[in-house]
Amino acid sequence: MEIDLAALADNARAIARLAGTSLCAVVKADAYGHGAPGVATALEAAGAVHSFAVSLVEEGVQLRDAGVVSPVLVMGPAQRGGHAEMRARDLTPVVSDGADLDALVAAGAAGARVHLKVDTGMGRLGIAVDDAAAVAARARALGLEVVGLMTHLANADVDDPGETDCLTWRQLDRFAEVTAALRTVAPGAMRHAANSSATMLFPSARLDLVRVGLALYGNGAWAADAELVAPRRQAMRFVTHVAQLRHVAPGDSVGYGALWTAVRPTLCAVLPAGYADGLPRRVTGRGAVIIGGRRCPLIGAVSMDIAIADVTDVAGVAIGDEAVLLGRGTGVHGTDTITTAELAAWSGLTPYEVSCGVSKRVPRVYR
Ligand SMILES: *Cc1c(COP(=O)(O)O)cnc(C)c1O
Repeated sequence: MEIDLAALADNARAIARLAGTSLCAVVKADAYGHGAPGVATALEAAGAVHSFAVSLVEEGVQLRDAGVVSPVLVMGPAQRGGHAEMRARDLTPVVSDGADLDALVAAGAAGARVHLKVDTGMGRLGIAVDDAAAVAARARALGLEVVGLMTHLANADVDDPGETDCLTWRQLDRFAEVTAALRTVAPGAMRHAANSSATMLFPSARLDLVRVGLALYGNGAWAADAELVAPRRQAMRFVTHVAQLRHVAPGDSVGYGALWTAVRPTLCAVLPAGYADGLPRRVTGRGAVIIGGRRCPLIGAVSMDIAIADVTDVAGVAIGDEAVLLGRGTGVHGTDTITTAELAAWSGLTPYEVSCGVSKRVPRVYR
C-alpha cells in the first residue's frame, strides 16, 4: 500500500479551507488503515491540522511514541489504567459519563484539559443533554478544565440537509442549546460536532472544529460539494503485480467453487493478493483491477492469498506488471482509478471497511 502524504496534506488544507474552522484529523483504527504514525507525523509536519483524534488510549500512546506533539483527543471509553496513562502521555480525555470524572481524579488528573461529550441522539456514548450542565460544573469543581464540548451525529451521511426535521438538524439544535447553557461553566470551550459528511453537507455543523476521517483520506463522495470534490485525492494506492500468466481454454474453470468458466480462449493473470490482504472476498463476480492502465475483471472466487484477473484484452501484459486494486493505475493503455467507494459498492461494504480492511500483511510505503 502506497500512501501519498502530499495528497493527505492537500486534502487536510482543502477541508480546513472549506470548513473555515480548525481541523481535527481522525486517525483512529491506524488512520483507517493508512498507518497512524506515518499519517499523523506527516500532517503535523505539514502544519495542516489543529489536533488528532483516536478511539483508544493505546492509539494515542502510539502517536506520542511516534513523536506527535499536537493535542490528541481520546474519544472512546478508557479501560482500567487508561486514565492514568492519558495523564502520563498528555492525551486529552473525552468525558462521556459522570463516572469518567471520578476515574480521572483518582488517576491524578486534576488540572487536566478534557472535552465533554453530549449525547444529542446518537444513543451510544455521551452525557445526557439534561445532565450536561451538572457534569460540567462538577468537572470544574474537581479542577478539570473543560476545553471542548462535542457531540456525534448519527445520520449526517444519509440525511437530506433540505429536510428541516431530520435527525441531524435535531441533534444540532440540541447541541446548540447545550453549548449555550454551558457557556459560563466552560467559557472558551471549542464546540465540535461534524464528521466528514456533516462538514460537507451541513455547514452549520462546522462550529469551531471539524473531526474528519473519511474525507481526509480522499474517500467518500459528496455530490453536493463540487468545490471540495475536485482537490480531494485518494491517499491510498493498494497495488500488487502479475505473478503468473496462464492460458485457459473455453470450458475450463478457474478458482474455488469453479465459479467462473471460460467462454473464449482467455489469458489469466495470477495476482498474489487475496482476502487475507484486504481484497474483500465478496467482490467475487464483480471486482476489477487496473493493469497497464486498463480495467480487467477479476474472475472466479477471490481466495485467501490469490486473485485472478482476465487480461486477454491487455496487449503486451507481462509478468511483474503492476496490478492496482485501489487507487490510480497508469500504463500504455491509459489511466483509470478504483476508489474505495467503488470497491465498497462491489463488495457490499462501506468505504470505511475497505480502507480499514487492508491487512497488516500489506506493507505501508509513504511517498
Ligand atoms: C470516526 C469519528 C469521526 C470521523 O468520522 P468520518 O466520517 O470518518 O469523518 C468523527 N467523530 C467521531 C466521534 C468518530 O468516532
